[in-house]
Amino acid sequence: MRLLRRITILGSTGSIGVNTLDVIRSHPERYQVAALTAHQQVDRLLAQCREFKPRIAVVGDAQSAKKLAAAVLQEKIPTTVLYGAEALVSAVSESDCDTVMAAIVGAAGLLPTLAAARAGKRILLANKEALVMSGDLLMQAVRDSGAELIPIDSEHNAIFQCLPAGFNALHSDVARAECGVEELWLTASGGPFRTTPLVELADITPDQACAHPNWVMGRKISVDSATMMNKGLEVIEARWLFGVPLAQIRVLIHPQSVVHSMVRYRDGSVIAQLGQPDMRTPIAYGLAWPQRIAAGVEPLDLTQMSALHFIQPDLKQFPCLALAFAAAHSGGTAPAILNAANEVAVGAFLASELPYLQIPTLVEQVLEQVAAAQAQTLAEVLDADQTARRVAMQCLARLRSH
Ligand code: NAD
Ligand code: MG
Repeated sequence: MRLLRRITILGSTGSIGVNTLDVIRSHPERYQVAALTAHQQVDRLLAQCREFKPRIAVVGDAQSAKKLAAAVLQEKIPTTVLYGAEALVSAVSESDCDTVMAAIVGAAGLLPTLAAARAGKRILLANKEALVMSGDLLMQAVRDSGAELIPIDSEHNAIFQCLPAGFNALHSDVARAECGVEELWLTASGGPFRTTPLVELADITPDQACAHPNWVMGRKISVDSATMMNKGLEVIEARWLFGVPLAQIRVLIHPQSVVHSMVRYRDGSVIAQLGQPDMRTPIAYGLAWPQRIAAGVEPLDLTQMSALHFIQPDLKQFPCLALAFAAAHSGGTAPAILNAANEVAVGAFLASELPYLQIPTLVEQVLEQVAAAQAQTLAEVLDADQTARRVAMQCLARLRSH
């Protein structure tokens, strides 16, 4: 008998959220929507409530909640409207869902994702910042509760598909050693400025930085892809998801974005996952795992491709990647500090308050000024995040006054 899955989507109005609903829409016999959450896009969330009739809908503030609640009442949609950070946790714990798509962008996704882990749900993890900030704690919560964690980030989803079933961070070292995994190779497109000399990037606008050559994504991750901070965050994400030492994770620039990542094995085999650059493939894989369902994605036609290239990244061209490697090696709260500084820097760049080339400058200044410590408790992680944001705002004010 096939299970009817009840899905909560954290961040349903974003790029991943909308793609998730698109896959769900074509499989009404398999999936029901339990709860949807958004920050500010009330109109889009209302349209989603109209179509999918979730038990709970969450927005960011009281005013948006009032507006949504009035519309829901008027249209007789059977949805309870809540608001605020704590309500995101309610969307996980009180919606009667068994699966949670964690697709909020940034640190705001951490607490509801952790709640899903503690409640033993199937977590479809797009929100990489949660793992970057508190990988150890999140993986421990997954282990303790018996939750299922399926990566949705395309590279990690690819690696998940290329690894044997017995290999993940939750298994014993002995079982993992027998699998013969030598290296994980994360591919990266290199973003829109891969070949542009740094001196020509001084006046880049947010729209130019968000014009990714292969993927359509939210604005924050699009900027992260341009700076390659995204790949740095993904290295840290892979380290936690797959329990592999940093030395065994490599980054390869692959401008075509066809090979989504690879695993190199002891016997000389390299297993890759290929596909269109369309997030509905990893989303459908996560929803249906271990089965596979149609995702609405065009078949891949390899004969239409002239060549696939793989290039070593140049850390001078991508200083954010170098900063992320450094924070990953420092460990403890360093990745949380890196992430918070980057969120402030990218937010300022998107608001045209910080030049593109000063994104790494700001992140580096914060990493220098905030000492990394142990990250054994959630309080320590959240404290590092808050301190880093405060220092980042001070650094931002200084950079702007020069
Ligand atoms: P997006 O900006 O398009 O959507 C973000 C969602 O989060 C929206 O629904 C928004 O309402 C919600 N949100 C934003 N701030 C919030 C806050 N403070 N509190 C509560 N909700 C908030 O982003 P996206 O591109 O869909 O990315 C979402 C996550 O998935 C990110 O962590 C990103 O790194 C990851 N991811 C995205 C892609 C992609 O193709 N878009 C690929 C891999 C990983
Ligand atoms: Mg990715």
